[in-house]
Amino acid sequence: MYTCVVCGSTQPATAWRCSCGGPLEFTQQPAPSIETTPSLDHNAGLWAFENWLPVDCAVTLGEGFTPLVDAPDRDVSYKLEWLFPTGSFKDRGATATISHAVELGVDHVVEDSSGNAGKAIATYAAYAGLDAEIFVPADAKPGKVRAIERTGATITKIEGSRQAVTDACMAQLAEETDPETPTAWYASHAWNPAFFEGTATFAYELVAQRDWTAPDAVVTPLGHGTLFLGAYRGFARLSNWGLIDSIPRLYGVQATGVAPIVDARGGWIAGDGTNTVADGIQITEPVRADQIQTALDASGGEAVAIDEQRTQEAYDRLHRNGLFIEPTCAVAPAAVDVLREAGELDAGEDVVVALTGTDSNR
Ligand SMILES: [Zn+2]
Repeated sequence: MYTCVVCGSTQPATAWRCSCGGPLEFTQQPAPSIETTPSLDHNAGLWAFENWLPVDCAVTLGEGFTPLVDAPDRDVSYKLEWLFPTGSFKDRGATATISHAVELGVDHVVEDSSGNAGKAIATYAAYAGLDAEIFVPADAKPGKVRAIERTGATITKIEGSRQAVTDACMAQLAEETDPETPTAWYASHAWNPAFFEGTATFAYELVAQRDWTAPDAVVTPLGHGTLFLGAYRGFARLSNWGLIDSIPRLYGVQATGVAPIVDARGGWIAGDGTNTVADGIQITEPVRADQIQTALDASGGEAVAIDEQRTQEAYDRLHRNGLFIEPTCAVAPAAVDVLREAGELDAGEDVVVALTGTDSNR
């Protein structure tokens, strides 16, 4: 059962958004106790935190407990979130979401993404024996589309903008005549509540890897806020439970030219033009924008927009240091340099940067 974050009404587990249009969350929230504190079997991956997840593990590819390393090129720590079965942190959400689908008896999932989320959902669905239909832009990179096709998923190509792809996916869902027993279930990385419970394990893992201490600040790329909001949720819970002293300041990094969160709040902007190198976070209308703003305010962090040149430079430097990440996530380390120059991050502060996607399959 879910609760709407906008109007507070209760919705069935087959719903993907509220009848008011608002995004949903699981009604039942996890609670800590000595019995539920994870024993931290790292071999269990992120499912070491199963007691803090609202779904039982049904589909896992061994994801999670990504390395936390000292950065070779800056005075920060990197959490290597590209070291997942399908090459990005989206597997955190996919393992939780597809496990939830199995729990609900769903046999057909739909998603709209030409990138990491599409790959993750299609792969986990295939492994679980579910049919998957992935809506992608007609001009999506062929390598990414082929990676999705190899899972056996059905690809539906849509002409027009990225928003047109989401609209087409939603139009199919709107044709469902029986909301109690839908024939297609929206495994969306932007909407599905289970996806965000999965990405909350980023915070659990990070704090556990640091002997149950939080850093001063965490920097992540920011498109729909899939990782950013999950991380905030995880840190907020750990703080409420008294397992960490306070929530780290969260910095969400967007691409110049497509930075709706930065624009709305007057965040930091470094450079100009449209940053096409960071194509994976070019989201004009994040569906959980209000939640993102709340998380930025509550953590004391800020939104930042990074231009193409800074992204490309950070990307090249990471690759020279053996960090084979995709260009989009280079915005996060690039933002550290900008935030330090601006005095937003102090030199001695303990900062963790998420490197979120692999460079393969481009
Ligand atoms: Zn509502």
